[in-house]
Amino acid sequence: MEPRTEAYVDGAWQAGARRFPVHDPFDGSVVANVTDADDALIDQAVAAAARAFPAWAATPAIERGSLLGRMAERMLAAEAELAELCTRENGKPLKESIAEVRYAASFFHWFAGEAERIYGETIPASSAGQRLHVIRQPVGPCALITPWNFPYAMLTRKLGAALAAGCTTVTKPAEQTPLGALALAAIAHEVGVPAGVVNVVPALDGARAGNRLVSAPAIRKIGFTGSTEVGKLLLRGAADDLKRISLELGGNAPFVVLGDADIDAAVAGAMIAKFRNTGQSCVAANRFIVEQPVAAAFTEKLTAAIAKLAVGSGLVAGIDLGPVIDDEAARKCARLVSDATARGARILFGAAPTGTSRLVAPVVLGGVTPDMAIWREEIFGPIVAIRAAKDEADAIAQANDTDAGLVGYVFTRDGARQTRVAEALQVGMVGVNEGLVSTAQAPFGGIKQSGVGREGSRHGIDDYTHLKYIATRVG
Ligand code: NAP
Repeated sequence: MEPRTEAYVDGAWQAGARRFPVHDPFDGSVVANVTDADDALIDQAVAAAARAFPAWAATPAIERGSLLGRMAERMLAAEAELAELCTRENGKPLKESIAEVRYAASFFHWFAGEAERIYGETIPASSAGQRLHVIRQPVGPCALITPWNFPYAMLTRKLGAALAAGCTTVTKPAEQTPLGALALAAIAHEVGVPAGVVNVVPALDGARAGNRLVSAPAIRKIGFTGSTEVGKLLLRGAADDLKRISLELGGNAPFVVLGDADIDAAVAGAMIAKFRNTGQSCVAANRFIVEQPVAAAFTEKLTAAIAKLAVGSGLVAGIDLGPVIDDEAARKCARLVSDATARGARILFGAAPTGTSRLVAPVVLGGVTPDMAIWREEIFGPIVAIRAAKDEADAIAQANDTDAGLVGYVFTRDGARQTRVAEALQVGMVGVNEGLVSTAQAPFGGIKQSGVGREGSRHGIDDYTHLKYIATRVG
């Protein structure tokens, strides 16, 4: 698939005066040169979304859903090309890119159905002469700002909900991975989504373009996935004219293994939770907290599984870990390991990354303590940090000792402990004997500093609609 490289505005491809390169994280080669949307083009996209809004909002839900269903089908039909594009701009192994295309398409499929289920309410009135109705209406044109780690899925779970609800959209994808969003715009165009309903404006300077977009008065809602730092800036900005905002931000997931856990199942769960997308996932297991009696057995089995991982180009068959996204990410892995070892952690497997290569081999660290940066920050790389816990209460206390609250994992065979720990973890999502919680049918999102709002599931529509209550006098 030849990537689209122009901005998609008002149903047309628009080449801007400036372009910027998209690099393959594996070898740094240029995959494409993409239009750098200037302020005038972003304003055009917002104006197009505002013009298209009334007709799209009035389009019967079944028709909006039908277009979403066709977008899902088209994505699956083009799965191989879309996956290759994803690997080229993001670096993840092809098998993971295929999984991402399917996961991303599942949001279009899910919201295709949900479009017809945006129900209202009828409320019994206290007065005989009154009828009380509640309807849900689309909030208006939305700004969607997405990160580089899941270029398709982070967009479809917003775009699917927005389009189902009757909102129009302007998307600003991450500077490193604009090609996925442009490929989705091409699909929207192909299936006949009306002009102005879907707009995509790639840009090199995310802060400049993001600010221009979210401060536009016509934008009524911001849907953002990215870092907590930028999320806070957007929340402050949204306050100026009280825009709706949903934020899917960073995590610091605890992965708790209790003494009675099935260790093989815990290791299998850990491999998924830790290494998907080379560890660059907001739901990546960040802190392994293992009850003392099984700490040695778990570490040994996990290390044996990690030793089998192959690192290299995501385009090569058999590769498990592609490159990290950029040089800064490679340097971060090196900094976290060197900070940990300087403070007393031991390297149990692998070698300290040098920070000079985007191909970062896995490392397992033992003897990690809470003062270490690796315990406090989102790692976003294939580094495993393990700490022992005295007992269940200590494991819970350690798990909750963070500002983040996106997801937590717990492995135990004991049903009562499963419930107790799942309820005690201060997070928006819990995997119980499960290393992968993300699915279109369930509400994805965090508490504490991991975000506001939910994406996916029947709740995913909520942030794209407002309630309107209508009191009618009938006599
Ligand atoms: P980021 O730096 O916050 O960037 C996210 C998006 O915001 C990009 O499109 C970026 O554009 C844009 N942006 C940057 N500065 C901005 C500003 N001042 N105003 C408006 N927009 C701005 O995050 P990232 O490094 O791409 O992604 C990694 C982060 O996302 C991690 O923390 C990860 O945990 C989080 N994440 C969370 C979830 C979740 O669902 N909770 C899912 C995936 C990722 P540029 O690329 O041009 O800078």
